[in-house]
Amino acid sequence: MGQSKAMAGVYIACAAAACAAAAVVLTQRVKVRSQKYTARKILVEFQEACETPLPRLRQVVDAMAVEMHAGLVSEGGSKLKMLPTFIDHLPDGNEKGLYYAVDLGGTNFRVLRTQLGGLEGRVIKQEYEEVAIPPELMLGTSEQLFDFIAKELVSFVAREGEDFRLHEGQSREIGFTFSFPCKQTAVNSGTLLQWTKGFKVNDAIGQDVVAALQGSIERRGYKMRIAALVNDTVGTLAGGRYWNNDVMIAVILGTGTNACYVERAESISKWGGELPKSGQMVINMEWGNFWSSHLPRTYVDELLDNESLNPGEYGFEKMISGMYLGDCVRRVLVRMAQQAGIFGPHVPHKLLEAFTLQTPDMSKMHHDDSSDLKMVAEVLKTVYGIHNTTLGIRKIVLAVCDIVCQRGARLAAAGIVGILKKIGRDGSTANGFIRRNDVNGIHDELTVNSIGGSGKTVVAMDGGLYEHYSKFRNYMQQAVRELLGDAAKNVFIELSKDGSGIGAAILAASHAETRKSKLFKEKILAGPQQCYSERRTIASQLGAALSWAAMVPKLGK
Ligand code: ADP
Ligand code: MG
Repeated sequence: MGQSKAMAGVYIACAAAACAAAAVVLTQRVKVRSQKYTARKILVEFQEACETPLPRLRQVVDAMAVEMHAGLVSEGGSKLKMLPTFIDHLPDGNEKGLYYAVDLGGTNFRVLRTQLGGLEGRVIKQEYEEVAIPPELMLGTSEQLFDFIAKELVSFVAREGEDFRLHEGQSREIGFTFSFPCKQTAVNSGTLLQWTKGFKVNDAIGQDVVAALQGSIERRGYKMRIAALVNDTVGTLAGGRYWNNDVMIAVILGTGTNACYVERAESISKWGGELPKSGQMVINMEWGNFWSSHLPRTYVDELLDNESLNPGEYGFEKMISGMYLGDCVRRVLVRMAQQAGIFGPHVPHKLLEAFTLQTPDMSKMHHDDSSDLKMVAEVLKTVYGIHNTTLGIRKIVLAVCDIVCQRGARLAAAGIVGILKKIGRDGSTANGFIRRNDVNGIHDELTVNSIGGSGKTVVAMDGGLYEHYSKFRNYMQQAVRELLGDAAKNVFIELSKDGSGIGAAILAASHAETRKSKLFKEKILAGPQQCYSERRTIASQLGAALSWAAMVPKLGK
């Protein structure tokens, strides 16, 4: 009897423990369910706020074209700076000789040489070296920075092989790719407006960067001339055009984003100087700073902007470029962690730190096609020390990556189609008009420029985001096709990897050629009063194509 009572006690205790365990499991399930429910709610709200259906994208396209026009009309007329680059003609393949490029745009800089052989030879040979900028020089003085660059350039030139050859009388000409905001005053001069990307060489601000580099080169006893100052977008356009006449636009989608294109000079109403003879001018849009009320802005964008180094600026860039996409994802995850506890009772400390989720990691998660989303788990673990996520939560994380990537890619597509529309290449209104609704509701007609060509338009594209993030690339191409419809068959987006360095060298070549023919016209054809020796020097600079003997008869006239 005593024993059976004791047994009953054990049974009851076991049953109670089982009930308690069941209750814990149930509470946990309820908690997990409510976590997932709240997280899904946050996800759906975010998704809806980020949507870019076709009608909305079309509004962005129109806004881009309208803002481009406004930025060309007057200084400060739009958030799009629409900077004239002084590049009024692009390479055409005829360039010949040995040219150099210095490409400074981030933590590394490149020096490059290329031997150009004209239409038949094209790029006969090319070599480059990449050099890391010592971190202390990024925060030092202008002289230290440019002396360092000049030292590396001169040492690169000193190690030149026999197969690189200057034409007789040719001086060494450089294209300088300098991807920081500059106010250009000529094709080969520009004052630095501000540093970005971790540089802070204060005394360089307001200085002519060409003169600074030129001075450093000369102090080393070398004679080299900087023929063209360009940013990476313009370099990419020139590099693309060298191979293909249909290249009209260049876009960078990397850490940052920007675009440039070929505009009709007479459309640049704010241009005070003489119109270039070519009738064209490359415009550096600085499109990262584009803004329109049609852009799908969310709490994530507001937070990111408020906490950024340049609040209120570069809003488009903050939605589409590699520097920011990962951080957009992180901010949604923070909200889910705070409000739904998706990563446990405490929000992982590091998740709260800005820029801890980099776009390549976001891309790794986004491309995870394993059934249990192993890569998502792996990234969460390695970056944030988050373990034991459920498959349901990992699916939500993946969905956030998809939303942010898709929005960025589709907006970039709308930007490109906006440019196509502005130059009359979107198939809708060649040489026609689009209407602009200004702030007072007054309609204003906007001329669409059409510059001749084969009917095909090529967009030269560069940047790690476009190159490596294939889902981004696919979404972008898909949206371009949706927006253009039939006209898409005439538009080609071509990756022009690292085209900006070689593009700058080729621009140095084409601008060196122009300078020579200009000098030729001004001085040699000017008449016999010019002194003989001067004519002789200029003539030799003209290279093999024009022999001195051929010119002599003209001198007497
Ligand atoms: P930059 O723009 O600094 O000149 P890149 O054109 O090489 O340099 O682009 C680098 C940027 O591209 C990185 O900052 C990153 O945002 C993005 N990126 C690089 N690799 C990947 C990747 N695998 N997936 C997604 N984004 C990437
Ligand atoms: Mg780059």
